[in-house]
Amino acid sequence: MSEDRIDAAVQALLDGKIKFHEVEGLTGNDSVEASRVRRRFLEKKFGMLLKHTGSSTIDFNDAVNRNIENPIGAAQVPLGYAGEIKVNGDNANGSYPVLLATTEGRLVAGISRGISIVNKAGGVNTIVAKDGMARDVLVRTSNVKTSSKLLHWIESSEGKEFLRNAFSESTSHGKLIDVRPFVAGRDVHLRFRATTGAAMGMNMVTIAAKSAIDKMVQHLDGKLGLHIDILSESGNMCSDKKPAYINFIEGRGVSVTADITRPRKLVEESFRVKPERMVELNKVKNLTGSALAGSHGFNAHVANTLAAMYIAHGQDVAQIVEGSMAITDAAIVEDNLYVSLLMPSIEVGTYGGGTARETQKEALSLMGLYGNSDAEGKTRLAFAEVVAAACLTGELNLLGAEAGMDLSKSHGKIKR
Ligand code: NAP
Repeated sequence: MSEDRIDAAVQALLDGKIKFHEVEGLTGNDSVEASRVRRRFLEKKFGMLLKHTGSSTIDFNDAVNRNIENPIGAAQVPLGYAGEIKVNGDNANGSYPVLLATTEGRLVAGISRGISIVNKAGGVNTIVAKDGMARDVLVRTSNVKTSSKLLHWIESSEGKEFLRNAFSESTSHGKLIDVRPFVAGRDVHLRFRATTGAAMGMNMVTIAAKSAIDKMVQHLDGKLGLHIDILSESGNMCSDKKPAYINFIEGRGVSVTADITRPRKLVEESFRVKPERMVELNKVKNLTGSALAGSHGFNAHVANTLAAMYIAHGQDVAQIVEGSMAITDAAIVEDNLYVSLLMPSIEVGTYGGGTARETQKEALSLMGLYGNSDAEGKTRLAFAEVVAAACLTGELNLLGAEAGMDLSKSHGKIKR
């Protein structure tokens, strides 16, 4: 696009003649050019250069509508390498490079130290306890008697088969596990749960669940004379991006449990602290302290590792809210330090969402876990296990550092 045409488009924005989302109409639908125009508009209006914001290799023609609207450039986050972590999992088996995107100094160093410590102890064991992305479609009947009829139909074999078939008509990778009804008077929450191939599945399950309920509403009206209204595609019992105990109890996405056993001698060498002190600290801080605070997360800093891994690998960062609802436990077992981590809601994908973005796709590919040709979702489950292993490493390292009282020392070394 010529400079004259860019100037004309910027002027049209300044004069309020076009809206931000209409710029593509002046660039022949080229969103890379349109991002330049919107950036220029901001530079002119606010009188400053957006040099760094404009430096990115993102293909906005691919990203627009899939990941972003009205792009102007990219927010860059430093990316650090913490080393290769050994994972002995149901789906992840071997050594996986851990990349962390963060601006928190000492996070990469801490995970890196943790990785070398867990690797010496043979790596982190992980299992997938449950898998299923959830979406709650909220419907309204006329009264509790009608709600009861709906409930019986949903739980009948005819209802189950109808919903499974209706769900599968909208997705080839999503497989419905179940639909659990929760009744509140005339309102009925229908919590769909499905496996989602390599995708995290939030769009997939939302679309397929809504379409299944549309068909159910028509079917029940005709067959049983039940009149049902759809109130919301998401009635919040899913529960997406809110701290909610249903996710702790039922799980959402991939539910992973990880553990590690570290011999006493190695703990004392690595952290210069007795393992008993780490166990005690875990009890008073992660368990009692969190309970006293009314926290939903009984852990030291799972959110830190999650946020850095989610940004680096193209995940939906807002889902850290439920992901960080995790429990760290520690004990002395046969004179060794045993640490486990329960993470019921690791909502990740290796295909779809932000995973196709340039650096994020590279990060997943480095692990061998980009899931473009993975219909079964093995890469997604493996990635969730690596995430849990890295989180456990962060927990172990922070407990060791705090028990040895070198947390503030290490943070004190950061440039201020
Ligand atoms: P998506 O980007 O919509 O990708 C899933 C799509 O990829 C499906 O259409 C699926 O086809 C297709 N696909 C092709 N190969 C696949 C494979 N190997 N495995 C799985 N799917 C495959 O992603 P999503 O995971 O469903 O949703 C993630 C996005 O939703 C993120 O961008 C997130 O930010 C956003 N999000 C949406 C909501 C919402 O309520 N809609 C809420 C939170 C987040 P088929 O379905 O035909 O099989």
